[in-house]
Amino acid sequence: MIESDLAQFANKRYGQNFLKSDYYIHQIIQAMPDDDLKVVEIGPGLGDLTKELVRARSVMAFEVDKRLCEHLSIAFRQPIEKGELKLQCGDVLEHWVAGSLADEPYHLVANLPYYIATNIILRALKDPNCQSILVMIQKEVAEKFSAAVGEKEFCALSVLAQTAGKASICFEVEPEAFVPPPKVTSAVLFIEKERTQSSESFEALLRIAFGQPRKKLAKNLMSAFPKDKIEKIFERLDLDPNLRPHETETSFYHHLHNEFKKDILDGEQPKQRKERAATRGQQSRPAK
Ligand code: SAM
Repeated sequence: MIESDLAQFANKRYGQNFLKSDYYIHQIIQAMPDDDLKVVEIGPGLGDLTKELVRARSVMAFEVDKRLCEHLSIAFRQPIEKGELKLQCGDVLEHWVAGSLADEPYHLVANLPYYIATNIILRALKDPNCQSILVMIQKEVAEKFSAAVGEKEFCALSVLAQTAGKASICFEVEPEAFVPPPKVTSAVLFIEKERTQSSESFEALLRIAFGQPRKKLAKNLMSAFPKDKIEKIFERLDLDPNLRPHETETSFYHHLHNEFKKDILDGEQPKQRKERAATRGQQSRPAK
């Protein structure tokens, strides 16, 4: 298939909206961290961004669509032979099972497939080799990752991004810059990682805390944990019981996590713990 046909028959299932703007490709390259670390690109597509990345860095690219993989292996034969580009065909999430996408420190730079963008960013935050994340995603999602406490977009994703480092929106991109144009406005998000933290119990706590985002934080927590323990923790941390989840600083969630981890969480949600205890009870009951 030739390039124009690939663009025309873009596969919606894989979130294929190809960036066809030299201006924005240049802007992305300009926003990259100024060092010589390897770059990982997820979804090179037709290779327009890849071409510029390969000029500057050693690149490893993951593409799920077999048609695009064939196209890329021909279009980039030289850089592949020279070892400047390593092309991995297949679903990037399946390559991520071992904890890291690369065996050395790298920057993630990509125009992400929007249907799995949040999942990819969360994995990159937990990947110890990933040093920074520069990705084009849906503007609303970028706003969630980069929101400051008190803003209405501040949510569990903002807390996780702030836990890893600093997140900001570099610029917005209108749908007309893509072929075919997506239905939403896009934005380029940059997360400069300062640390890698991966804790199931912290994520579980955030899911509970932001479960009903417009309700009071204490109420949300009481849906999962004993009321008296939560009241005591709020008192101990001198937290206003009327705070909503988006009004509470990231550092407070870490305090809460330390408190809950000790008292209740210990790596699993209380409901799961109850269910497990009930199953154990049934198993240990003698058969009639
Ligand atoms: N980088 C290209 C550009 O800027 O024009 C294409 C970006 S397009 C928004 C997303 C790309 O991700 C597509 O090429 C799509 O096939 C690829 N993709 C979708 N799901 C993927 C997955 N699970 N693993 C790897 N690549 C994926």
